Amino acid sequence: MKFKPEKYKIPDEAMQPFIDVQEIEESLEKARPDAAAVRDVIAKSLSKERLNMKETALLCNASEPELVEEILDGARCLKELVYGNRIVLFAPLYVGNFCTNNCAYCGFRVENREAERKTLNKAELIKEVEALEDNGQKRLILVFGEHPIYNAKYIADTVRTVYSVKKGNGEIRRVNINAAPLEIEGFRTVKEAGIGTYQVFQETYHPERYQRFHISGQKSDYNYRLTALDRAQEGGVDDVGIGALFGLYDWRFEVLSLVRHTNHFEAVYNVGPHTISFPRLQEAASALIDPAHIVSDDEFVRLIAILRLAVPYTGMILTARETPAVRTTVMQFGVSQIDGGTKIELGAYANILNEQQNLNKEQFRINDARSLNEIIDELLEMGYLPSFCTACYRLGRTGEHFMEFSVPGFIKRYCTPNAILTLAEYLMDYAPESTAKKGWQAIGENLNQLENPKIIAEMRKRLDKIKNGERDLYF
Ligand code: SAM
Ligand code: SF4
Repeated sequence: MKFKPEKYKIPDEAMQPFIDVQEIEESLEKARPDAAAVRDVIAKSLSKERLNMKETALLCNASEPELVEEILDGARCLKELVYGNRIVLFAPLYVGNFCTNNCAYCGFRVENREAERKTLNKAELIKEVEALEDNGQKRLILVFGEHPIYNAKYIADTVRTVYSVKKGNGEIRRVNINAAPLEIEGFRTVKEAGIGTYQVFQETYHPERYQRFHISGQKSDYNYRLTALDRAQEGGVDDVGIGALFGLYDWRFEVLSLVRHTNHFEAVYNVGPHTISFPRLQEAASALIDPAHIVSDDEFVRLIAILRLAVPYTGMILTARETPAVRTTVMQFGVSQIDGGTKIELGAYANILNEQQNLNKEQFRINDARSLNEIIDELLEMGYLPSFCTACYRLGRTGEHFMEFSVPGFIKRYCTPNAILTLAEYLMDYAPESTAKKGWQAIGENLNQLENPKIIAEMRKRLDKIKNGERDLYF
């Protein structure tokens, strides 16, 4: 099953080997951070310029506590500058866990004979979506194993079903996908179904480590996976999500590779990745995990801050793999999206299942079992503005990068108002009284910070409309 680029009609420039192990290793070896150099790099990032590999390597190698502190401060500051206090919420929805691959770290791998395999049928899928809507969710990421059943048409049909489910005031307004790489035609098919982002994580960018963890199946072909999102771009999917599974290899190598991957997209498609994910390896049934590169909490904070600084315009996703305490700490250093009320057992949203996770039914252990409302409560208490906004994608503000980042005043004109309007819907339809109280207070405070009196007046009108039952008002 060797990768043949000509078969996939990938343009020549995309096929240049953009991950060069030697180049990355040399960047890391040569980077000798002194305080002045680190400060220059942070200043460049704060002027909203993406960092190159050499600059990112300097940050990765800066381990003196004072320098680490400056990097964290820089990331915190950049997050506020670019994203304000919004945190976008979503939930994962596992559709099927059949898988022909053998990824050493994953509970779904084909050689886990104890795994309980399941694909939601249409009625079960609808029930799951209704349950998610009943919680107040508006954005989902559908997750699939890699198996011939979950082909592009199947994924597209699933997406259409999800969009069609409406319960009360509930509806899903953006469906993202985390599934196996497709071919160009396949990406076209899922794009036509109206997907938001297509995520494919490279897991580790180091080819030899990759081979070691991806024992058999299509995913064992490093290059086929590495070029997945090039094919997505060719197929018209211009919102793509990259990521590395931290714990498989040296985190510094992965951070530099993510920056290199970003640089590749910018060079070839003039658009960076829409999101970067940084899942950290968790316990899984029958997993073969080599502890050599386990990432500590301190390293995790650093790598998030460095990614924030390195690619200032990109959304950064933090998931319930992490404990509430870790999530609360790292959020400030650059995270823009988190999941809430997450359940990863198939069918678990609609059925009240055991509170205990059964790892043979799930991909890995999750460590944040809080409900969506508990998370919203905490976000409000910490001064964040929870958001369910889907406006950019629905108004075609995709691809061409980084609207919120590059257009002056974008956050105050669009993001904060849309966050407020979607939070108001949540408070009206789903929140218990105590959350509603905190939420309306936060809305009042954030409204006053919008500055432009015309926008504030328009917002007041729209909030009244929401109170009177109108929904889905956005800028
Ligand atoms: N099967 C597809 C694939 O592998 O790309 C779709 C998604 S997979 C279900 C989602 C992601 O979960 C993987 O890309 C991997 O990064 C992550 N993952 C797998 N096993 C994990 C583990 N033990 N701990 C944390 N994350 C894990
Ligand atoms: Fe399958 Fe994805 Fe798990 Fe690999 S990570 S075994 S491809 S579900």
